Amino acid sequence: MFAATSPPRVRVGIIGAGQLARMMGDEAHDVDVDVTVLATSLSDSAVPSVDHVLIGEPGDEDALIALSRVSDVVTFDHELVDLDQLSRLEARGVIFRPSPAALRFSVDKSIQRAEFAAANFPIPRCCIIASSSDLPALEEWLATSDELTVVKAARGGYDGRGVLFPATREDTVGVVRDLVRTGPVVVEERVTLLGEVAQLVVRSMDDDVVAYPLVTTVQDNGMCTEVHYPARVDDSLAQRARELGVAIARHIALVGVMAVEYFVTPAGLLVNELALRPHNSGHWTIEGAATSQFANHLRAISGQSLGPTRATSDAAVMVNVVGASEPGSLAAARAVPDVYVHDYGKTWRPGRKLGHVTAVGDDPLDLHVRTWRSARAYGTCTREV
Ligand code: ADP
Repeated sequence: MFAATSPPRVRVGIIGAGQLARMMGDEAHDVDVDVTVLATSLSDSAVPSVDHVLIGEPGDEDALIALSRVSDVVTFDHELVDLDQLSRLEARGVIFRPSPAALRFSVDKSIQRAEFAAANFPIPRCCIIASSSDLPALEEWLATSDELTVVKAARGGYDGRGVLFPATREDTVGVVRDLVRTGPVVVEERVTLLGEVAQLVVRSMDDDVVAYPLVTTVQDNGMCTEVHYPARVDDSLAQRARELGVAIARHIALVGVMAVEYFVTPAGLLVNELALRPHNSGHWTIEGAATSQFANHLRAISGQSLGPTRATSDAAVMVNVVGASEPGSLAAARAVPDVYVHDYGKTWRPGRKLGHVTAVGDDPLDLHVRTWRSARAYGTCTREV
């Protein structure tokens, strides 16, 4: 007689221990995985929610090797990673999901733009400046149009950092000359934004791809302040966003969850950027969808089938809480009826993402009012728009 035994849990290692790792940790046992984070300190956001913690820097090869030794698969809390280092470790047998080859598309805007232009995915008109010797090519490119430009560091930017808006087209060269000293730069046309939307997709190891409902994102100074389901666009645009998201997931051989951020322009959708990890635009799925983005990411990277992505209510609103000049009150935020307040366990600092608030229901206006009332009580510095 043998006792029935269940297969051992897949051991997931996460590079980084911020709020995304914390929310993955919250769902890990429901999807039968065991999580170890590589944290820089015991006060990192994810430490209370996961099974095991290693202390180390995300760029330290010995720390990454230590993480890989206690993990069947390694994934990411953030994308501030060294792709060459990850590729070296992959060659030594470490399994990363998503792979370093797929991660290139989110870590480096110049790679994404160059490869998407070649693959005919819609992107803003752009010019890639790898070094100062490319500046004459920039002058030629600038001569082809009158539009204003946006200048972006190809790597290392997030929440609007590393994105510059030259006051005139002529100012572009000076801005790029300075920025290219720190690495490759993408210069693109400043498009007319009718809005911004985000499409979350998940691809499994056996090429099943599921898509969440499209959402509208609202940005303030390059930082996402709020997210609305359903997206404020017509059905044909939502369908196009979904089809493109699925095609991109297959094109880059994604495994796991990916957010595709789009610009909505008079000429249609343009891809802005990709995030190959659970994303701020998908936090509403914790309460608002049949399977959250965190659960589906863990399912995908641990080789399981994917869960359903349908919304479970007519509408959802999520508002980020970003530290204001004075700390607010979590208790007051929680006292607002019918909201879900997620506190990331971080110490308050002005400008720091401290948590988010979600409300789900059938009246988008009511959800909007309640999430903002709660977020303001919590002490957010972002303003209602
Ligand atoms: P980050 O990587 O920091 O999120 P993004 O490339 O998303 O930077 O740019 C931040 C914000 O700047 C975008 O959400 C958008 O509002 C604005 N922006 C970026 N590129 C363009 C563009 N080509 N045209 C108009 N606005 C842009």
